[in-house]
Amino acid sequence: MKILIVEDEQISAKVLARAVVALGHESIVASDGLEALEVFAKQQPDAIITDWMMPNMDGPELCRRVRAAGASRYTYIIILTARGARSDKHEAISAGADDFLSKPLDKEELQSRLKVAERILEMQVNLEEKNAALERQQALLTEKNRLLERSQRNAEVAGSRFSQLFQNLPVPCFTFDSNLIVFEINEKLCSSFKKPIADLIQREITDLFGKELVTEERVKELKNVLQGTPFLEQDWNDGERYYLVSAYPLFGHDRVVTGGIATAYDVTELRKMQAELRGANEALAAMAVTDGLTQIPNHRAFQDRLSTLIGEAMRGRSFALAMLDVDHFKQFNDSFGHQAGDEVLMSVARTLKENTRRVDFAARYGGEEFAVIFLDVDAARAARLAEKLRRKISEIENPYRPITASFGVAMYGPTTATEQSLIKAADDALYRAKDAGRNRVEFAGDDPAASAA
Ligand code: GH3
Ligand code: MG
Ligand code: MG
Repeated sequence: MKILIVEDEQISAKVLARAVVALGHESIVASDGLEALEVFAKQQPDAIITDWMMPNMDGPELCRRVRAAGASRYTYIIILTARGARSDKHEAISAGADDFLSKPLDKEELQSRLKVAERILEMQVNLEEKNAALERQQALLTEKNRLLERSQRNAEVAGSRFSQLFQNLPVPCFTFDSNLIVFEINEKLCSSFKKPIADLIQREITDLFGKELVTEERVKELKNVLQGTPFLEQDWNDGERYYLVSAYPLFGHDRVVTGGIATAYDVTELRKMQAELRGANEALAAMAVTDGLTQIPNHRAFQDRLSTLIGEAMRGRSFALAMLDVDHFKQFNDSFGHQAGDEVLMSVARTLKENTRRVDFAARYGGEEFAVIFLDVDAARAARLAEKLRRKISEIENPYRPITASFGVAMYGPTTATEQSLIKAADDALYRAKDAGRNRVEFAGDDPAASAA
């Protein structure tokens, strides 16, 4: 230790200094209190051994001054005293002294007092080091706390920004947890349910949309989302309500799926409009191929069917075409009026429809002319079928007068393998039927009438 000895008597000071050095310490001597304070300030001794009685400044006063100076390190102070009174010692301790050494000097006592001083100073240093370490840790903790608070604040801000975005998104959305329970739902989707948010969240998806919409198959797909597989634009509908739904997994820490986010557009209105439009289109398409007066296929539908059949006939299918024309119809109109004529055309159409097989095809060709296709027939069969139709038409009952029609029939074949040639052949036969007196069936080419009869 570096020890400052404060003693006004030179001999005593020397004796003390020598004893201190002999114990392995360094000694500095000051002869009074003022000098001692100067040396103390400059040299920062570990310990001070000071006499009590000194001129100008006594030992206790020196103690007070040293303590008041507030050095960074603790200085151990021992007061030399010849006195043994308790009250004096109390005064010295109050002034800041740590220990006493009696006069005259006992070297063993000095040694043991200095050992105590050393131990206490050592403890002091240890304590100070521990304190410093604690303070450093405290500072680190404070810094960490500050960072934590800041990141918490950031997370809160980010969270609230996300939920604002989610709420105000112009896309109807909801999130769900790993039990397929609706966790959040935004304004846009809420409005399609016409219920407050509180009634919609914390419910199973199946419960919220209904089991008709969220079938078992849909539930399976939602569970796949929880395995990380999204789905896009599924049509959820029960025939009444329609939702277009996409769902994506939501990932938490370590890319673990914690739930999902889904968009669910209510497309009910759109789908209903589409269905109406489809219906209207179908009706339009039907109108395009139906004759307005008789409600049987029109000329255009006949041409389509004929060209399709010619394609099939080239691959071996046989068919015959009958063209028929109401006899003296102009006269009928003139006699009974156009309205009556229309009624007759309608009943002819009905008769054709009712007396042809399901595979056959009857159409209004134009005016008071009709066309009938007999499918999968030979000439004799075609002649019989046409003959039956002729008879049925002649049997039509109407309030005016009986009507008849003339028929020309042609088989599809090598010389009648196109629409035009087949129609012309049937038409030529029809003219022959007119020429031969009407209300009869004429056959193009070889007349099978003999075998049909
Ligand atoms: P034929 O026995 O030689 O066939 O004599 P026709 O009078 O029937 O023949 P024509 O071709 O001279 O006359 C056909 C008539 O059919 C003329 C036309 O006014 C009438 N007609 C055509 N389409 C319609 C229709 O949609 N309604 C009515 N009421 N009459 C029609
Ligand atoms: Mg005609
Ligand atoms: Mg006619």
